[in-house]
Amino acid sequence: MRTPIIAGNWKMHNTIAEATSLVEALTKAGNKNQAEIIVAPSYTALAVAAHTAKGSEIKIAAQDVHWEDKGAFTSAVSPVQVKDAGATHTIIGHSERRSIFGDTDEILNKKVAAALRHGLTVIFCVGETLAEREANKTLAVIEGQLANGLKGFTAEQLKGLIIAYEPVWAIGTGKTATPEQAQEVHAAIRAYLAKTYDDAFAQETRILYGGSVKDTNVDEIMAKEDVDGALVGGQSLIAEKFARIINFN
Ligand code: PEP
Repeated sequence: MRTPIIAGNWKMHNTIAEATSLVEALTKAGNKNQAEIIVAPSYTALAVAAHTAKGSEIKIAAQDVHWEDKGAFTSAVSPVQVKDAGATHTIIGHSERRSIFGDTDEILNKKVAAALRHGLTVIFCVGETLAEREANKTLAVIEGQLANGLKGFTAEQLKGLIIAYEPVWAIGTGKTATPEQAQEVHAAIRAYLAKTYDDAFAQETRILYGGSVKDTNVDEIMAKEDVDGALVGGQSLIAEKFARIINFN
């Protein structure tokens, strides 16, 4: 049995006051599936979100980390700093980081190393573009992202890793992968983990689906065997919607 995870990626949204009231609302949302609940605020709201979430079930993630602990890297934020602010998790490899900010597999691999070095739980994102899906390259692309991004680590070192399958064509577009499309890729990721590491690691690793998850489609997606949770963008900003997603059926 894998504990489900419902994670919210707030992207570049929410002031400190807005982040505080959203976390406050989520602490009262209930959690009927006893899911792990994670929210990823902007760096500016990490500390206040962590402070507000104290004593609740809500855990805090950074949306990214730099690969060095400190130094002359203007605008970057290190794993040490996000931990200091109260984060226990970090997203790495979100498609917006890959496509807008140029995070390559090599950079992501260094970020994974830095996060693991500091005991942050990594939510590692993978996913294909529409062109790649239409060219039947979905599984090859995802295996490549996993192989390169997680290069050099054993199953023991990666223990606790969370993978998020987020088809790029479904992020922020309103287009959701069908539950069958999600299940197919999630099963392939699990098979890849079994082949590359071992069966125990494959069975215990949580694989989240992300891409236009809503209060209206979460139930059917979560019903799929290899879908262990959701990474939610837009609807994680709306307390009632995200509360319904947390309390999926
Ligand atoms: C995301 O950015 O991780 C995401 C899944 O966004 P949305 O739910 O808005 O598609």
